[in-house]
Order: sequence, then C-alpha cells, then structure tokens
Amino acid sequence: MAKNLTKRSEDYSKWYNELVVKADLAENSGVRGCMVIKPYGYAIWEKMQAALDKMFKETGHENAYFPLFIPKSYLSKEASHVAGFAKECAVVTHYRLKNAEDGSGIIVDPEAKLEEELIVRPTSETIIWDTYRRWIQSYRDLPLLINQWANVVRWEMRTRLFLRTAEFLWQEGHTAHATEKEALAEAEQMMNVYAEFAEEHMAVPVIKGTKTESERFAGALETYCIEALMQDGKALQAGTSHFLGQNFAKAFDVKFANKEGQKEYVWATSWGVSTRLMGALIMTHSDDNGLVLPPKLAPIQVVIVPIYRGLDQLDVISEKIAPLVKELRKKGISVKYDDRDTHKPGFKFNEYELKGVPVRIAIGQRDLENGTYELARRDTLEKETIPAADVVAKIEFLMDDIQKNIYQKAHDHRAGHITTVDSYEEFKKVLEEKGGFISAHWDGTNETEERIKNETKATIRCIPIDAEAEVGTCIVTGKPSNKRVLFAKAY
Ligand code: AMP
Repeated sequence: MAKNLTKRSEDYSKWYNELVVKADLAENSGVRGCMVIKPYGYAIWEKMQAALDKMFKETGHENAYFPLFIPKSYLSKEASHVAGFAKECAVVTHYRLKNAEDGSGIIVDPEAKLEEELIVRPTSETIIWDTYRRWIQSYRDLPLLINQWANVVRWEMRTRLFLRTAEFLWQEGHTAHATEKEALAEAEQMMNVYAEFAEEHMAVPVIKGTKTESERFAGALETYCIEALMQDGKALQAGTSHFLGQNFAKAFDVKFANKEGQKEYVWATSWGVSTRLMGALIMTHSDDNGLVLPPKLAPIQVVIVPIYRGLDQLDVISEKIAPLVKELRKKGISVKYDDRDTHKPGFKFNEYELKGVPVRIAIGQRDLENGTYELARRDTLEKETIPAADVVAKIEFLMDDIQKNIYQKAHDHRAGHITTVDSYEEFKKVLEEKGGFISAHWDGTNETEERIKNETKATIRCIPIDAEAEVGTCIVTGKPSNKRVLFAKAY
C-alpha cells in the first residue's frame, strides 16, 4: 500500500486531513460539517469511551439519557446560555412532509408546523435541569451525579474532521449539589479526571487551568479546562468542566429542603469531552508515515504478518503462530494475524504503519529455521530479531514502553514550546516564528484580551491552575498583573 502522505513540514493541515481519511478513521459525508466515523476510528473512540466511563463510575457517576430535542422556551430560560448558543442552533419547525400539489416533489407540509419549535441539543443543561426540578426535593436527593453519552449539534461554520464538526459525539456530565463548595470540588475533580485520562491513556500531556471570562462556557461562573499542544505549535482545548453556580437552578426553579427544612437553590456543574479527543490523539503523536497510537487505545495492539512462498509455507507459519496468538490474547493483548493471501507483506507493513499499530511481528522461512521473530515498533520504527521464547515478555514490555515513550516525546515537544515573554514585541515574534504556548502577564481585562486576539489571533488558553503568584506588568497596557497566563493560537 503506497501511502503518499503529505509531509507535516510541507502542510500540516493537509497532512492531518489526508491521514484521517487514509488511516480509515473517518470521512466527510454528504451532510455539510458532519462526518462518517469509520469502524477503525470508531474502535478507538469506543476504547476512549470505555476508559472514561470506568473513571466516571469510579467517581460515583451514573449514566442516563435525555431527549435530543429541547423546546425553544427551555433554552431561553438562562439568558447567557441561550445568548452563547443561539448562533449555532439547528431548529425543528415542522413534523411532516407531503407531495407538492404541482407534482414537483416532496415539500414540508405547511400545516404540520410545530406549536413550539424544538432545538436539536447543542448541550443539555436546560432539558436536564427541567428534569432535575422533579428529581430533587430534599438534601437527601443530593448530590445527583449523572452522565450522558450522546450526540450534539452545533452549527459550526468552519469544520474539520473530529476537531470541529457540526454534529459530534460526546459525554456530558451534569451534577447537582447542596453547597457551592461541593460543586466547585466536583468541577475541579472532573478536570483532573480528564487530565488523567489524557495523560495515562492518550499519552497526551495537558495543562490544567481555568478559562478567562470571555472564553467561559455560556452560563458558567468558572470553566476549568485541559489544554494540549499539537505538533504544529497550535493549542487544542481537549476537555472542559464548568462550575455553573445556581444559574440553572434559578432558571428552572430547582430547590431542595436543607437539613433545617429551609428551601435553597441547588448548585450545579457540567463537563464534557468529545470526539475532538480523536483529533488531539492523531495530531499529537502521528508522523509522516501515518498514525502512531498509544497501546492503551489501539484497536489492534500487535499485528503478525507471515512472509511466505506458497500456501504450504503459510500453513507451517500459521501453525507456529497459533499458540502465540492464543497466549497474547490470554494476556488481554489484541492481536491480528494477517494471513490474507491477496496482499504482499510490503503492502501490509505499510498499511499497519499507516494505521498506527504499535507492534508488528514478521515471521518468514529464516525465522522458522532460527526460532526467531522480527519485531518492529511503530513509535521509533526500530526493528529487532528476537528468540521466540522471549517474544511474549518483549511484547508486554513494548506495550508499556511505547505508551511511555510517546508521552515523553509529546511532553518534551511541549516543554520546548512554552516560552516566557515580557514584551508585546517578543510575544508577536515568538508567535510568528515558533508558536506554542506563550506565558505572559495580562492585565485581566476583556479589552486587552480582545485586542491581542484581533492583532495576533492568539487567545488566552488558560490561567494555569499551578501558576505561581508573580508581580509583573501586562505586555500590552503595562498595567499590573499578579500571574502569568498562557496564550496560543488554537484549533
Ligand atoms: P463545551 O460544552 O463548549 O464546554 O464543550 C465540551 C467539549 O466539546 C469540549 O471538550 C470541546 O473541546 C468539545 N467541542 C466543542 N465544540 C466542538 C465541535 N464543534 N466538535 C467537536 N468537539 C467540540
């Protein structure tokens, strides 16, 4: 299989789009902005879902499901929420089609107009809080810790496979608490869960922080986030967790009786990660030969390719391989033995390289004679021949080592792309020549943030959680600042 991938250094964006399609992850569909996720891409997403779902359950959450449609009046109840989403809403106005009387085809039946228009959910706070009013009466009903796996629609104008689509898959957690403190702790906890997932499973290092007011979720008092850095020096928001205060409880009149019997409004959080994580995964690790997947999320962790002349030789190899496949599977390692006779080994090697399979084993006549296997690891492309007796232990080692190695590589790349600057000139220069995160002082105003965005396209990605207090002056206005924030151009 010839790959013909554009090189990252030539055109990073083109490389990404080609890779997503050629590695069989997803493709554009006939519907503007909406993608088809193909089986190989979906298998990675399923692994992400399984790991996240386990983490949510370990932190006490349960899954439920709420409607796709939200009555327009619900969405309108929280003023800043509707203002934030109004421009991206898909609206259902009718419920029936009919044949046009002039025979010109199928038309919307004007008589089937909905009394109240329905919004295809861009996020589910409103429908969920309308439900919580019925579920929450007393402090005994709290905390309520619910997650939903669903699709949402945001009518995005500039879309790109996985990173930004009009319809995307995600999970959204919606929790209700008796106190502000508890809700804040929950929002922070879920940011930490996301960071742990990104680092431990995706091998993507992230920076934890809070968003500035202008980048906050519509309706939130605080947005916690994890930010990752892609190989081209652009940042990607990989997950968000919001402290919603009592905004939705007030909008939907959700009160609970406290221990003293007094009525109080409930405190809320919501948090989500989406199929955008697929984009983060691809962009962080992959190279000019194709995908590089962390073993923990790879649908196929080990592929075995026989090299043979004639079907008799293949039979001998297949027989030799069978116990190895069995043993690896018993250890929970997913193995594919590719004995297709329709493709040459070279084609297969290319295909699995493109698809990011972490370890490839090749076995030919000489290996049979010598009692060896040839192992190739996808992250470094290194090959080595090892005795058959060592192969299982070696593969177990590689699963761990590749996971660590690609994390370290991404971590080193990021470390080399966080630049501290103290003037606006320097800021623009670094942004232009190097990209990455820029750590700088900012006066805390929307105006300055907006000006920097308009002049340079860089936005404040986050105020890092672990940012130390440091007396300084804003790089643009010279006004005082007490900590540095991280700027970057972002996806
Ligand atoms: P939000 O509800 O806006 O905080 O977004 C929740 C999560 O979905 C964040 O991790 C976003 O990065 C992600 N997200 C937002 N918009 C899109 C989109 N159009 N396509 C894919 N993911 C998105």
